[in-house]
Amino acid sequence: MSEPVEVTESRDTDVGGFRVRRALPNRPRRTVGAWCFVDHMGPADVRVDQDLIGPHPHIGLQTVTWLLAGELLHRDSLGSEQVIRPGQLNLMTAGHGVAHAEEATGRFHGSLHGVQLWVAQPSSTRDGDAAFEHHAELPQVELGSSTGTVLVGSVAGTSSPARRDTDHLGIDLDLAPGTTAIELEPSHEHALVVFEGDVTVDGRPLAPGHLAYLGPGRDECALTTSATARALLIGGAPFAEQVLMWWNFVARTRDEISAARDDWMAGHERFGVVTSKLDRIDVGEPPWRT
Ligand code: MN
Repeated sequence: MSEPVEVTESRDTDVGGFRVRRALPNRPRRTVGAWCFVDHMGPADVRVDQDLIGPHPHIGLQTVTWLLAGELLHRDSLGSEQVIRPGQLNLMTAGHGVAHAEEATGRFHGSLHGVQLWVAQPSSTRDGDAAFEHHAELPQVELGSSTGTVLVGSVAGTSSPARRDTDHLGIDLDLAPGTTAIELEPSHEHALVVFEGDVTVDGRPLAPGHLAYLGPGRDECALTTSATARALLIGGAPFAEQVLMWWNFVARTRDEISAARDDWMAGHERFGVVTSKLDRIDVGEPPWRT
């Protein structure tokens, strides 16, 4: 018998003038597999020229960006310049250091709705090179009358081509009315975030703004909807390393984070340069130095 589903509320926050529901990290949960951050963005209107998020640095993580509506322009210090649209995946690996900006495209205005997640990199790659991937198309899998899009990892024998440094998965679920059963790896932990509609898992009703945590020991989850719904399933092998997160950095020690912060503020070459019309985002001292 598996543990009951644990449901937590997201925290409302503001990113670039945009309403975001932060589902992870939260009080009982810091990570789900290697997933360490889940921001559900919008839906909210963007203007053609809206300033979204100016250049800022990352270390030790991958950013996974997935849209349900709207368009964003990604620019990074590797020279990548990539518009992302619904159904496409942007995956940026920070390693020892990268910087990026998320801008309005200068053409699109209207409703923006999506999610940005972070994946903690394991020690084997977290000091390595930065990288960027754009996947214009991703494999889909039939789950009864529902459809899964495999962002990262594998489900029901179908695998995403996206880079993966640990054993984790991310599946977008387009749920048809009724019950959809999804096979799970019992040694993994999982979580569900609802984008649109109402979904019941193990008798627990979920709506946008909730994160449902499903601990190890399950070989299946059954999702029930009375109308169509859209949700995200994430999961993976419990992350074996203790992660320390502050600002845009995922590391292991305060010293590593302090050094990354100082390097960013000093314009150190580890973060490169992002060509962007937006201003660089500065940050003050971490709390352990004040
Ligand atoms: Mn970022």
